[in-house]
Amino acid sequence: MSLLELENVTLKFGGVVAVDDVSFSVEEGEVFALVGPNGAGKSTVFNLISRIYDPFAGDIRFEEQSILSKQSHEIARLGIARTFQNIELFEQATVLQNLLVGRHTHRKSNPVSEVLFLPSVRREERRHRKAVEEVIDFLDLQPYREKYIAGLPYGVRKVVEMGRALAIEPKLLLLDEPASGLSVEETQDVAFWIEDIKKLMGITVLMVEHDMHLVSSVSDRVMALADGKTLAIGTPEEVQNDPKVIEAYIGADDEEGAA
Ligand code: ADP
Ligand code: MG
Repeated sequence: MSLLELENVTLKFGGVVAVDDVSFSVEEGEVFALVGPNGAGKSTVFNLISRIYDPFAGDIRFEEQSILSKQSHEIARLGIARTFQNIELFEQATVLQNLLVGRHTHRKSNPVSEVLFLPSVRREERRHRKAVEEVIDFLDLQPYREKYIAGLPYGVRKVVEMGRALAIEPKLLLLDEPASGLSVEETQDVAFWIEDIKKLMGITVLMVEHDMHLVSSVSDRVMALADGKTLAIGTPEEVQNDPKVIEAYIGADDEEGAA
């Protein structure tokens, strides 16, 4: 079954058509990667799915229901979690607190104080903690659980950002450049985690990523975008060998010095 479907989605910013008549579907249980040079429209696709932007045209469906009537704060409750290209965490809170906050995205008041100090939420709190501790174990974050985000190295913050999204136990996980700025070793960890997220947790993954080695090693299918338009959809090998993709994407990548 298609978990997520975009149908003829278009979004313009002034004169720029950031997303131009894009259609694709993500099947339940797969890892689907969006690739393309900078400015291709990849993050905008994520922002459309997270309902930060309204499309000018087209429809976006999750579990066969249009989500265009939903607001961005309602998306997590449907089972869609995301990470941001520029990590978005509470700097003055610990790793543990950030992951707990991830489970309380639907609450209105200050989530940190509400989650941590109100006695009436204690039982629910235990359930949240159990889920969060599992994510901490899974991502090897035990050494950092009580550390403040502000003092953590970039690579660890990146993992916490992924943990915050995983902690809401989503059906669909959107990862925006999970390996950007990471070392080869850290990127390898990300590859293992994505495999486990898919196989052990049964979570469907849609990711944007520049590292083609990571994309090829974890993705079932890939879609290449350039200038807001779909160039190709297929297996990682099919897309990498597509002449249009080689022209638009690999050429631009060489300029950026990425692989
Ligand atoms: P990618 O993530 O593939 O690098 P983006 O989705 O960030 O690309 O951007 C696609 C295009 O839309 C770019 O030309 C970018 O400048 C433009 N764009 C993205 N967000 C905005 C915005 N909020 N306002 C104006 N233009 C934007
Ligand atoms: Mg982007």
